[in-house]
Amino acid sequence: MFRTKEEFKAAFIERLETLFGEHLDDATLTDKYAALSTLIREIINKRWYKSNMQYRVSKDKQVYYFSMEFLLGRLLGSNLFNLGLTDLCREGLAELGIDLAELEAVEADAGLGNGGLGRLAACFLDSMASLQLPGHGNGIRYRHGMFEQKIVDGYQMELPDNWLRDGYVWEMRKASRAVTVKFGGTVRMEERAGRLVAIHENYEPVLAVPYDIPVVGANRNTVNTLRLWSAETNHFDFSSFSKGDFLKAVEQKYSMEATSQILYPDDNYPEGKVLRLKQQYFFVSAGLQSIVRRYKRTHGGTPADLAKIHEKIAIHINDTHPALAVPELMRILLDEEGLGWAEAWNATCKTISYTNHTILPEALEKWPVELVGRLLPRMYTLIREINERFCAALWEQYPGDWDKIRDMAIISEGYVHMAHLAVVGSHSVNGVAEVHSNILKQEVMANFHKFYPHRFNNKTNGVTHRRWLAKANPALADLISETIGQGWLDHPTELANLHRYGTDAAFQASVKAVKQANKERLAQYIKAKMNITVDTQSIFDVHVKRIHAYKRQTLNALHILDLYNRLKADPSLDIEPRTFIFAGKSAAGYYLAKRIIKFINTLAQVINNDPDIGGRIKVVFMENYSVSLAELIIPAADVSEQISTASREASGTGNMKFMMNGAVTIGTLDGANIEIHDEVGDDNIVIFGLTADEVLNYYKYGGYNVLDVYNSNPRLKQAVDQLINGFFPVSADEFDSIHHSLMRTNDEYFVLKDFAGYAAAQEKVGNLYRDQSRWQTMSINNIAFSGRFASDRTISEYAIGIWQIKPVVIREF
Ligand SMILES: *Cc1c(COP(=O)(O)O)cnc(C)c1O
Repeated sequence: MFRTKEEFKAAFIERLETLFGEHLDDATLTDKYAALSTLIREIINKRWYKSNMQYRVSKDKQVYYFSMEFLLGRLLGSNLFNLGLTDLCREGLAELGIDLAELEAVEADAGLGNGGLGRLAACFLDSMASLQLPGHGNGIRYRHGMFEQKIVDGYQMELPDNWLRDGYVWEMRKASRAVTVKFGGTVRMEERAGRLVAIHENYEPVLAVPYDIPVVGANRNTVNTLRLWSAETNHFDFSSFSKGDFLKAVEQKYSMEATSQILYPDDNYPEGKVLRLKQQYFFVSAGLQSIVRRYKRTHGGTPADLAKIHEKIAIHINDTHPALAVPELMRILLDEEGLGWAEAWNATCKTISYTNHTILPEALEKWPVELVGRLLPRMYTLIREINERFCAALWEQYPGDWDKIRDMAIISEGYVHMAHLAVVGSHSVNGVAEVHSNILKQEVMANFHKFYPHRFNNKTNGVTHRRWLAKANPALADLISETIGQGWLDHPTELANLHRYGTDAAFQASVKAVKQANKERLAQYIKAKMNITVDTQSIFDVHVKRIHAYKRQTLNALHILDLYNRLKADPSLDIEPRTFIFAGKSAAGYYLAKRIIKFINTLAQVINNDPDIGGRIKVVFMENYSVSLAELIIPAADVSEQISTASREASGTGNMKFMMNGAVTIGTLDGANIEIHDEVGDDNIVIFGLTADEVLNYYKYGGYNVLDVYNSNPRLKQAVDQLINGFFPVSADEFDSIHHSLMRTNDEYFVLKDFAGYAAAQEKVGNLYRDQSRWQTMSINNIAFSGRFASDRTISEYAIGIWQIKPVVIREF
């Protein structure tokens, strides 16, 4: 361990020598990264050990956050930050002629997630550790994470993500803690010692090997664990092998190990593939087995001890992907620990809690009964039993109301409905923003809410202000600390003290200078990567997130097209120069989303190369949106595009990251935008469009006719027509699917309906920006009122309201 810069420099140089037998002058960037990260890892490991010891002896309740995705991004920078070592290391390295930022960039992003849901899990880990809460992650160590996106001729291409190529310094393989997960086979019931027990035979065993990643809390000593499971097998088919069929022997090994090979790259659109169900059971079963094993060691292993497991363990499931935790915990308690149904069910429901992340009908998970029965025979018998008991309880409450019972059943019409399983088998169901939780209670899960009125609650999402403000925007963080002190780092609501500097000319100038520098940095990156020169005096108008019809990149693009049309028609049109920046991945099989990417890139090609425009507007689609790219883009944004169809975006978290970095939101009253609006007030946000109630009413009762809007707005009509009338230099049918989604299926996401409101809102944004003092006030107020959207607040609410866990102080050492 080092305490001073000099000690650090000496340790770093020695590490290079011992790792690589190398002198500083000969070391590559990769070597220097390895030297620094292994030094830091040692510091972390000491704390990790202490935390684990303390958790064991103090016997405090622990929470485990089960998530199919953890979108961690890079860890060196955030670990340094949370250890309080950033400045010391940066300065020490600088004296050795090394740029810390360059070393950080060597690390591959851990892209083990698609978007918001996976990033939320990562922010939650950071907040749990930083609040000294004993909370751990449980997930899958995908060999290949989110694909790398390349844009070729305007189209998305997917390349495999090989994030483990150079090894991963933050993980620790724990082969001795491996467990077996059983797939397929048959289950029969047998009476043993007066009890019916389930015997699972002829199954395929897959070995789950844990790789633990330390989760470092800020400032204090807590280091929690993210446990990611890798599928391996020590089974090798020697009989095939010895008969000379080497390939068959290897094939079987690969098929078993396939389980943790790949992240499904679908956001809000689950693929009903066997392998995906296999992944779900794999990490749920492995996680629960290891948690119960540890519980028994610490708290005793009699059935009476296990009947109280909820007093010491909370299991949280991030969306329904880990909903098999309900029957799997039942299996362990019944089949392995010998509890009776009533005790096991009581303990299971009190242990598990569930977050719903979406009301998009196509995103609600359901699995064919046949598939569940074949792949997971024991899970299937348990789900049937749970369903029968639940339906019996429904019958008692609503005798004869078959419609309602069918509507609420866990198994119906040949499918297992995972959200129903999650609600029935847990003690808490939360939505992720007020409007989303209300829609759950009043619409999508109204029947369940009536049946379990106390189970439903809201926990508005948040993001870690350490990564998304302090680390991503260090100049702004320094400026804030100089102005209001450092208290905001531990208590982000103290950012509100910035409010009184909102009209302070000197502070405005400083905030503006920071933004300008961030814009220059982004512009340099765009120049280097794409050879596009952007005007850093222009408004940076940023729309970055997954490409999805409901997120309405199409609305933004159509407005840009309309703006272009107007500039062509009237070259003297007096607009504020703008750079429209997009980034985002489409699911590989999502045809419409892929065409939207091509549309934006085509717009860029036309507009950026039109001498009539003279650079007054530019369009940039940055490839491979990821956590690290987000950290570069968001601090440079003036305008944050949050324009989803109201009611469709459960919360959004991108909106919060932008706000913290002083961008002004143009948005609909959807998800957490509503709460951002509540915090900053009308003067500091630009709102437009249908409300959630209006959208839901249209969905329920009809009454929207896209043709009415199309025919009554000539500017809009022109832009929509240009999709298919040969205006763009692409094949004639290139954008048919976009046109079709708008005009032939009655514009499901109300793009045309909201167009006029959006165009007016964009005009307002331009006018506000012209009054720079006014704009800086808005920007500062957004930072000031972003404290509520720190995930520390969210996690405190989970800890008190759902998990009932308390901080554990890890002793100094
Ligand atoms: C925050 C984040 C998201 C979520 O963004 P939304 O705007 O809420 O959809 C997606 N991807 C990455 C890389 C992120 O950092």
